[in-house]
Amino acid sequence: MTRKKVLITGGAGFAGSHLCDRLLGEGCEVYCLDNFFTGQKQNIVHLLNHPYFELIRHDVTAPFFIEADEIYNLACPASPIHYQYNAIKTMKTSVMGAINMLGLAKRIKAKILQASTSEVYGDPLVHPQAENYWGHVNPIGERSCYDEGKRSAETLFVNYHKQNNVKIKIIRIFNTYGPRMHPNDGRVVSNFIVQALQNKDITVYGEGQQTRSFQYVDDLVEGMTRMMNSADAFTGPVNIGNPNEFTILELAEQVIKLTGSKSKIINKPLPADDPMMRQPDITLAKKELNWAPKIELEEGLEKTIAYFREVIR
Ligand code: NAD
Ligand code: UDP
Repeated sequence: MTRKKVLITGGAGFAGSHLCDRLLGEGCEVYCLDNFFTGQKQNIVHLLNHPYFELIRHDVTAPFFIEADEIYNLACPASPIHYQYNAIKTMKTSVMGAINMLGLAKRIKAKILQASTSEVYGDPLVHPQAENYWGHVNPIGERSCYDEGKRSAETLFVNYHKQNNVKIKIIRIFNTYGPRMHPNDGRVVSNFIVQALQNKDITVYGEGQQTRSFQYVDDLVEGMTRMMNSADAFTGPVNIGNPNEFTILELAEQVIKLTGSKSKIINKPLPADDPMMRQPDITLAKKELNWAPKIELEEGLEKTIAYFREVIR
């Protein structure tokens, strides 16, 4: 049997490690590349003895060469506290990482998928967000290193496709949560669950009236692999997210209910440029990929809470 060879950058991160599991399960040979900035060995330690799994410590801002059939480019810190820690490095990771991985894809004739983000829509003035919305991004704000880095990466992908016939796929991922988020990740779902399990105050930023639409990680992995396997002519970008929208306050209340926590909700200042609302329009993903999320918030939170109970006890 000839195994498909797949390179996953950011493979030791939250989403990447689930993708490693999925592709190994399908019989692929998986090369997991990571610099361990926000990724953890713990996420992939169960794979280290797998005969078709290879772990490579490398930074995507430097060129990298390997033979592969497909590349999933996920390397990039995703949580605001981590991507703002070194804004220049975040932009380098998105932009130089895209250039290095696209150059590799071109040279080895691999198909390449970019993990883009709903952040390309910024603080959106259109609701819900469809792929033809150009977004509302502050180019010099706190979030711009991430937003503009990801927007530039999309530009690079589209132009490598047009100029060099590289087979590209772009997905715009909306807020995703699940097991293997780092307890100190800083994103809202893991923060609230960890705080609730420790009976600490739940930190709602602002009044908690801003909204997000939360997707469970298994649905993301399904959407990602469907996109990679879709017809070459369909390059995207395509939204991959769960359209069920909640206020952050509703999320806090739900987490308290499901954990049976004694935590109190407290308010902290709303970070600059924090988007007020976010909801994916997934009409395109339904049509082109026959994909829709299957796991709703309560079920996904239960699974995630079960994971964190093990990790932080
Ligand atoms: P994560 O922080 O858990 O994973 C990112 C991984 O990339 C980590 O393992 C990290 O060590 C690695 N990495 C960072 N910089 C690197 C570099 N320069 N070289 C090599 N590796 C590097 O985040 P995640 O949630 O798993 O996100 C994965 C991808 O999906 C990211 O590109 C992110 O922007 C995108 N995304 C995620 C979400 C979400 O809600 N989870 C939403 C939109 C987009
Ligand atoms: N948030 C919050 N408390 C936290 C962490 C985040 O209220 O402890 C809010 C944050 O201000 C934002 C939303 O939750 O409005 C989602 O934040 P996250 O960092 O998870 O993702 P993003 O803002 O990038 O969508």
